[in-house]
Amino acid sequence: MQKGLVIRSTGSWYEIRNTDGHIFQGRLKGKFKLKDLKVTNPIAVGDWVLFEVEDEAENTAIITDIVPRENYIIRQSVHKTAHGHILAANLDQAVLLATLAMPRTSLGFIDRFLVSAESFRIPTTIVFNKADILNDEGMEYQQEIMDLYQSIGYKCLSTSATEGEGVDAFRQLLDHKVTLLSGHSGVGKSSLVNAIAPDLNLRTNEVSTFANKGVHTTTFAEMFELAPDTYIIDTPGIKELGLMDTSKEEVSHYFPEMRDRLNQCRFHNCLHFNEPGCAIKEAVAEGEIAESRYMSYLSMIEGVDNRR
Ligand code: GDP
Ligand code: ZN
Repeated sequence: MQKGLVIRSTGSWYEIRNTDGHIFQGRLKGKFKLKDLKVTNPIAVGDWVLFEVEDEAENTAIITDIVPRENYIIRQSVHKTAHGHILAANLDQAVLLATLAMPRTSLGFIDRFLVSAESFRIPTTIVFNKADILNDEGMEYQQEIMDLYQSIGYKCLSTSATEGEGVDAFRQLLDHKVTLLSGHSGVGKSSLVNAIAPDLNLRTNEVSTFANKGVHTTTFAEMFELAPDTYIIDTPGIKELGLMDTSKEEVSHYFPEMRDRLNQCRFHNCLHFNEPGCAIKEAVAEGEIAESRYMSYLSMIEGVDNRR
């Protein structure tokens, strides 16, 4: 029996890295029992599993058990009744790569990501890349946005993958951690990762010939080892995380600056929309909660379906 980390998955095959760094292609033991989760995939990238080597020469393995997860992120099916899909497990943190240059990341997108990460209890840092192409006004605005998110409690970092600014801080941020690295395509994910791990080559490393035959891989996360004990998880093609099963009343709990004020609203089930005696709306009016955050909140409760 060996223990290993699932670093790639196609849904039927799992690439496992054992503690010595050897790679095996594993599949589930026939009578492997799904734990009671309502999900389509029993095992995801980032899972630690127990396995037996099946064929030494072929490096194939049979997975017999899964180590209990610290956390996981899941993508809910658009059909609420259908099962969700676990994207990745055992994350230490998320890094949202954004840019206020081109292609500019909207604050709404940042807020939706942060709310998802809060719902999964994953601490998040926002990295603002392409600082080199911002003019003075742009830099001032970036500082304003960084101050806003830092005041809420999110760590922020300014980087330029091309000029090298902030790259060391980015490396330190990832050091000895498993990090979900997210962001729209074009913000500089590959450039930044290549700047700290030039040998990796994020884009060409994608195809695992053995396991991926004929399988559409884009919905599956992949894990890359940047340095010993340092992994990033990339979820290609997945822009949004989605929320953990959430009701409208719960959304404000995932805005840290709202969380502490909720018991001051007159109604305990206040949605902070147009109810009288709402402490959240008061805080927005007094400038204690940013208007952009409140707008994001409103657009999110519109999107939350309360049928559960
Ligand atoms: P990805 O899709 O997020 O992986 O983005 P890429 O790393 O492929 O970068 C997209 C484009 O932005 C490329 O043309 C990069 O050269 C450019 N780019 C990435 N980072 C920076 C940066 O910090 N400054 C500038 N000026 N361009 C960048
Ligand atoms: Zn309220």
